[in-house]
Amino acid sequence: MFRALGLQAAVAARACPAGALPFVHYRTARLLIGGFDAGDGTPDDGVADIVRHIYRADLQAVLLAALGALGVGVATGHALVAVEDGADRVTARFADGSTAHGDALVGADGVRSAVRELLWPRDAPRFTDHVAYRFLVPAAAAAPFMGLGRSVIFMGPRRTFNRYTMCGGSVVNCAGIVETGEWAGEGWSIPATRNEMLAAFAGWHPDVTGLIGCAASSIKWGLYDRAVLPRWSRGRVTLLGDAAHAMLPFLGMGAAMAIEDGWALAAAFARDAAVEAAFARYEAARGPRTALLHAKSIIQGKVTQSLDPDTFDGASAPVGDPAIMAYDPVAAGV
Ligand SMILES: Cc1cc2nc3c(=O)[nH]c(=O)nc-3n(C[C@H](O)[C@H](O)[C@H](O)COP(=O)(O)OP(=O)(O)OC[C@H]3O[C@@H](n4cnc5c(N)ncnc54)[C@H](O)[C@@H]3O)c2cc1C
Repeated sequence: MFRALGLQAAVAARACPAGALPFVHYRTARLLIGGFDAGDGTPDDGVADIVRHIYRADLQAVLLAALGALGVGVATGHALVAVEDGADRVTARFADGSTAHGDALVGADGVRSAVRELLWPRDAPRFTDHVAYRFLVPAAAAAPFMGLGRSVIFMGPRRTFNRYTMCGGSVVNCAGIVETGEWAGEGWSIPATRNEMLAAFAGWHPDVTGLIGCAASSIKWGLYDRAVLPRWSRGRVTLLGDAAHAMLPFLGMGAAMAIEDGWALAAAFARDAAVEAAFARYEAARGPRTALLHAKSIIQGKVTQSLDPDTFDGASAPVGDPAIMAYDPVAAGV
């Protein structure tokens, strides 16, 4: 996708290559899916089907610079509160009283989308019975616990622990996901304690508990998804990304889907100037793909978290399915 946008070099320069993404047993670190990281950290040309990790702010910086080069402005700090869909234009109203007009409005406003709420008022985000913990560890402190390579996902019953390098290898991002019956809020600012995480991952591999021991501060949040909608568009308004199809993070594909959506929407407008026709083309291209990923993310979560890793063979995991991972949205077209 980034190659097609002419951004591959800029993204690669900030991303950390991570080999073949090994999934390992939560206690023994026995390899269950994928392969151990044999790379030396040198960014390659992107031809190989390796995994790369990039800090969200770094990716946003690349995209923002590309928009700037195109002369496209970005106005932050505007909370949309209402949409008026007229015969020949659509108007967005913001909480500060300002408005914006255009031919079309794309609600790319996340899992709690205000645009989706306006279009389908009775549809709400669903708590998925999972809580995520997240913390960062400086590379020097993490070094004793990185013997398995730059990127590893530990799989255990009802839990996953994922750790990988970011930001030129200077920092290790750690994310633990725990299946729980207890509801949890969604904000990115609910503090979690080291003891709480150590209790959740008690008995796990020493690399996991060691990294948790290094957590200076950490946050937790409930994971929510969205029902798959039969339609995303109404009139001059459509949805994109999590607003359209928020999914569980077990395939690490939510943001990737939003980026593919953006490509497809632009391609649809290149073929059809008429808004409703372009939206229909966009939905036809993206609906099946995102519904598949939505369903497979649930299955991947059940595989990584519920099967007994001692008897696990890895063959049934969607993460290895080329139909998912080798999809080319440019070749697929709209
Ligand atoms: C634990 C976890 C791990 C993940 N790992 C990966 C991964 O490895 N790879 C991957 O591809 N994806 C991953 N994801 C998913 C990814 O984070 C999301 O799919 C992605 O952020 C969706 O992008 P978006 O632009 O649709 O929505 P968001 O990133 O949520 O952006 C929505 C934007 O809309 C703004 N907004 C909200 N309401 C309004 C309003 N009323 N008016 C104006 N603006 C508004 C928000 O401020 C925000 O800037 C992960 C998710 C989780 C929870």
